[in-house]
Amino acid sequence: MGEPANAPSSTPVGVDPTRASIARVYDAALGGKDNYAIDRQVLDAIRTAAPEVRDMAWGNRNFLIRVVRFLANQAGITQFLDCGSGLPTAENTHQVAQRIDERIRVVYVDNDPVVLAHGNALLAENEHTGIADADIYRAKDVYEHDLVRAHLDFDKPIGLLHVSTMHHYLGDDYADVMRAYVDPLPSGSFVAVSHFYDPEIPELSATARAMERSMLDSPMGSGVFRTADQILEMVPGLDVIPHAAGSPPEVVPCDSWWPDGPALRPLNDAQRLVGCVVARKP
Ligand code: SAM
Repeated sequence: MGEPANAPSSTPVGVDPTRASIARVYDAALGGKDNYAIDRQVLDAIRTAAPEVRDMAWGNRNFLIRVVRFLANQAGITQFLDCGSGLPTAENTHQVAQRIDERIRVVYVDNDPVVLAHGNALLAENEHTGIADADIYRAKDVYEHDLVRAHLDFDKPIGLLHVSTMHHYLGDDYADVMRAYVDPLPSGSFVAVSHFYDPEIPELSATARAMERSMLDSPMGSGVFRTADQILEMVPGLDVIPHAAGSPPEVVPCDSWWPDGPALRPLNDAQRLVGCVVARKP
């Protein structure tokens, strides 16, 4: 099978450039180069429903960077489990965290062959970081993975990241999937979730439904929007960290979670459609 024009220069074994992948569609949304024509077609379909989809992707990614910085800097987290890590970007979890403390341990989990190939290459010389090939919707498998066992100490708090992952899980038992992660975590651990967000405002919900349709009907085949109550079900029994001084513990757009500075422009629709929550296990 020949490679399509503009395909990445080296195609890892096991990659099918005729099928869209979540990781590559997201890479395309961030403006990356590790994607194929089929992935960009999916992105184009989503863009028809939400022209500012790139802002949405960056709102999500920048949230991940800020939350890792917060957990490493302020919350004293020394080990991270980053589920559904995606393709490497300029600021990956281990780079953000290990800039604060080079001994911080990071385990990435993904099952996309391109992600695994890039991840292994990137991490080859970093003894505190690894990437595990496992299904992120099966917490037991993730927790029992050799690499997770070798790198993470379950007697000490863990920073669990499920950033932009659970919306690709279509089952109604999404809360059970997350409970299986949360229950074994030691006290003092943190869980960060970002998710396609339906804020239950009629015009935004209509855009959310249109985006959802475009993703479900595409070769990617997944991407659902959930409400604040549904997203909060993913951090059962945990204390939600307020997203700003004096604010209530609630789900907010990723861009509104402790932003880097004052917001000079209102968020656009796409930015308002990806929400997040960060919570601590008592
Ligand atoms: N967490 C990163 C971020 O927010 O910047 C990347 C998010 S990307 C949208 C979702 C990632 O989850 C992709 O890399 C994809 O390969 C991975 N993923 C999706 N389903 C998965 C599964 N069942 N098991 C492992 N990884 C999965």
